Amino acid sequence: MNNKIVYVDNNATTAVDPEVFEAMKPFLTQFYGNPSSIHYFGGQVAAHIAKGREQIASLLGAEPSEITFTSCGTESDSSAILSALNTCPTRRKIVTSKVEHPAVLNLCKQLRNKGYIVSEAPVDKLGRIDLNIIKELIDTDTALVSIMWANNETGNIYPVEKIAEIAHEKGAIFHTDAVQSVGKIPINLKNTQIDLLSISGHKLHAPKGIGILYVKKGMRFYPFMIGGHQENGRRAGTENVASIVAIGKAAELAGKHMAFENSEVKELRDYLESQILKKVKNSRVNGDIENRVPNTTNIAFDMIEGEAILLLLDKAGICASSGSACTTGSLEPSHVLRAMGVPYTSAHGSLRLSLSRYNTKEEMDYIIETLIPIIAKLRAISPYWKE
Ligand SMILES: *Cc1c(COP(=O)(O)O)cnc(C)c1O
Repeated sequence: MNNKIVYVDNNATTAVDPEVFEAMKPFLTQFYGNPSSIHYFGGQVAAHIAKGREQIASLLGAEPSEITFTSCGTESDSSAILSALNTCPTRRKIVTSKVEHPAVLNLCKQLRNKGYIVSEAPVDKLGRIDLNIIKELIDTDTALVSIMWANNETGNIYPVEKIAEIAHEKGAIFHTDAVQSVGKIPINLKNTQIDLLSISGHKLHAPKGIGILYVKKGMRFYPFMIGGHQENGRRAGTENVASIVAIGKAAELAGKHMAFENSEVKELRDYLESQILKKVKNSRVNGDIENRVPNTTNIAFDMIEGEAILLLLDKAGICASSGSACTTGSLEPSHVLRAMGVPYTSAHGSLRLSLSRYNTKEEMDYIIETLIPIIAKLRAISPYWKE
C-alpha cells in the first residue's frame, strides 16, 4: 500500500469520476464554440448546456429554469445571500448559524460591518440547532435565513425544510448551502419552501470551478455578476461549457449511486468509526450520529494535536483533515467544534475522515492499523496524557 494514496478527505474535494471526465473532454477539444454564437459550430454547444441543466434539475426535484451555473459553491452562496438582501432592502436582519462554512460566515461578517444585524444560531454539544431558537431569532425585520443542509466537518444534517417554513412565516427568504448534502442524501425541492440553494461541483465528483445556484420559480433574483445575457440574465460570463457538461453528468451519476452511498459507503464509515472507537481509548465522535450524511466521521482524541496526527497519517499515504480545509494553517481549533463546546483538549485532537464511493474495506483496515500506533506514539510524548 506504500505508493498508494488512501483518500479520505472527500468533504474537501473529490476525484473526478472517469465517466464525468469522458463526458466533458470533447468540449475542451472539438466543441470549443461559444454557445451564444450565431453559427452552428457554437450554437450546437447550447444543447449540451440545456442537458446539464436538466440533469441537475432532475437530481434536485427542480425545474431546469430554476438552475443557474456559477463558478463555485462560494459564488453560489455569495450571490444567493446578496440577491436575497436586495429583494427586501427594508429588512436589515440576517439569521444564520455558528457552524456555517466560511463562504457564508465571512460574508455575513462583512455584511455586519455594513450595518446588517447578523444572528448566528448556536448549536448544542452534538452540533444540533434548536428550532425554537431559530423561531425566536427570526422576526419581520429578517431579510434572510441561511442555514446549511449538512455540515462539512461533522456531517450533521439540519432540518432545512422546516427552517424554510419558519422563515416564510415571518416573510424572510430562505437559503441553504447544500454543498455537503447533494449526492449524499436524497433531495426533492419540489414540495419544500427552500428559495435558494448552493452546490459545488468538486464535492460531487465533477471538477473544481463549477457551481450551481437553485432559485425557486417566482423568486426575484438580483445577479451578482453583471455583463452579458448568459444564464437568462442571472449570471453573466461565457458559460464554462465543459464543466457544465461535467457537473450534469456528475449529478446523473450521484442519483445512480445514492443508494450505494447510503448502504456500502455508510457501512464502511461505520466500520472505520466503530473500530477506532473500540481500539483507542478516550476517543469519541464529534457530531450527531443519529443524523449525519453517510460518508463523514469526526473523531476527537484527547490530549494530542490533530495536526500531528495528520502529518503522520500523511507519511503513511493517508489523506485526512482536522476539520475545514479553510482553518488549516491556523492553530485555532475549528469554529464548528468550538461552537459545539468541544473542550480545547479534544478539539485540538480531532480528525475528520470523509469517504467516497471509491473507498474500500482494505483501505479502512489500513487506516485503522496505521492510526492506532500513531495515537499511542503521540500520547506517549504528550505532556498532558496520563494512562
Ligand atoms: C466546499 C464548500 C463550499 C465552497 O465550495 P467551493 O466550490 O469550493 O467554492 C461551501 N460550502 C460548503 C459546506 C463546502 O463544503
